Amino acid sequence: MRLYALELGRIDMDQRVIMPASPPGQRITIPVPGYLIQTGDATILVDTGMPRAILRDSTPIAPWMRALGGEEAHATAAIARLGLAPSDLTHIVATHFHFDHAGGLPEFPGIPIVAQRAALAAARGGNAQQREYVNAPGLLWQEIDGDHDLAPGVRLLLAAGHTPGHQAVLVALPGAASFLLAIDTIYSRQQLAADDWGAYADPDAARASARRLQDLAAAHDATLVYGHDTAQWATLRHAPAYYGDSA
Ligand SMILES: [Zn+2]
Repeated sequence: MRLYALELGRIDMDQRVIMPASPPGQRITIPVPGYLIQTGDATILVDTGMPRAILRDSTPIAPWMRALGGEEAHATAAIARLGLAPSDLTHIVATHFHFDHAGGLPEFPGIPIVAQRAALAAARGGNAQQREYVNAPGLLWQEIDGDHDLAPGVRLLLAAGHTPGHQAVLVALPGAASFLLAIDTIYSRQQLAADDWGAYADPDAARASARRLQDLAAAHDATLVYGHDTAQWATLRHAPAYYGDSA
């Protein structure tokens, strides 16, 4: 079983987008992570990063931020560097439908996309950008409700608050360290310390989900990996390096 951490570009923006209580004028550059998990017969991509159009040029689409990395940061290019084509994937996990997590979905038709029913419903009734991702032709949905064992060592965890139906992923590597991928349940250690959930759809649910993931990470002796923590990301092994064994 292997876990790869993929860097699907970076975003330069005002810190207040993530933490509204921050002082004005502070720019931050955050990573856009995705993950590839190989276990048994399953090859699972967790999140598909930013859409090609935004990677080419983000300025007309989102003037408040700048996408870095270019088309080489697209999820299809990131898996290609590991020798994989979209058709090699058995599942995609869509944690939620923001542009930096679901933007690559239109380029993965025919691959089962595992999403929480509540998240998909919200995105279908959401803004034009989210509707574009979820209504792209040929996408194959596998809707779930709540926690779900996806494959050996891979458990999806409902962790709502950032968005309705947001999900996190517990990856238990046999004989090695385990990881709890919080995704945007918790952006960063700094956000956790500041207890600032004001940017989230449901701040109270977000706080409860963050606590639950902290408890689960402790119970499983798993490293809690934050969604966009620049400092923590720098300490992780990035693809083509991986966690786990060669089997
Ligand atoms: Zn995000």
